[in-house]
Amino acid sequence: MDYVIEADRLCKNYGSRHRVLKEFDIHVPKGSIYGLIGKNGAGKTTFMRIICGVQPLTSGEFSLFGAKSSDTNAVRKARERISAVIESPSFYPHMSAKDNLIQQYTLLGIPSTEGIDELLELVGLLNTGKKKVKDFSLGMKQRLGIAMALAGSPDLIILDEPMNRLEPEGVVELRETILRLNKERDITFVISSHILNELSKIATDYGFIRDGKLIEEITARDLEAKLSSSSHRTLEDYFLDLMNR
Ligand code: ATP
Repeated sequence: MDYVIEADRLCKNYGSRHRVLKEFDIHVPKGSIYGLIGKNGAGKTTFMRIICGVQPLTSGEFSLFGAKSSDTNAVRKARERISAVIESPSFYPHMSAKDNLIQQYTLLGIPSTEGIDELLELVGLLNTGKKKVKDFSLGMKQRLGIAMALAGSPDLIILDEPMNRLEPEGVVELRETILRLNKERDITFVISSHILNELSKIATDYGFIRDGKLIEEITARDLEAKLSSSSHRTLEDYFLDLMNR
């Protein structure tokens, strides 16, 4: 199996007492849509921040596209292949979607803006014309965030709670965008979400995190088989049972 991210006994402490990740192991297969599931405060965002290089790890290691975290240069290069929307994506609110993307291209040093219309089309924002981002719905902003993340042609996109606060149609559009990018561009996704019903419509793999530890990793197919032969009917039931064990 080819993994995009692997972590081995990853630990993260804040200060001397607050242990947030505790020997955290994870295996994200190439081409997967990996759902990272855990309650608030379980450590999902911290893990994502470490992978993106925003936070240093305390001990243990991870590899990203085969580059080990101990090899600073290799991991820095590997990070060029990832994009993340971790906090709310930031935009220029008084500009259109297209102008925001032009800014992003400039920031990344991409000389040609040729691909921008294709990006807008891909995330369903091509018809927004001169409309300013400040007047976008939350769902449109979320999709623009993904378009911005796509500007560097990443092989892996990390999304932290992307469905949060989205209106139902926004959720559907985001879901379709993610599926299309996964299929057409072979982009791997790591998505944290507590909207499990939605996540279960797209995820190919799951990791369940409880109190800083990955307590189970399972493919969607295996989980489905497990659910059909047990008293749990939904991902939500399964999750609640795991968390309370
Ligand atoms: P949520 O969905 O609520 O963001 P999460 O699973 O993403 O949950 P994290 O954001 O990783 O959880 O936070 C895990 C723990 O680490 C929490 O107790 C949080 O308060 C703490 N924490 C996060 N960032 C910091 C920081 N910079 N300094 C100190 N503690 C932090």
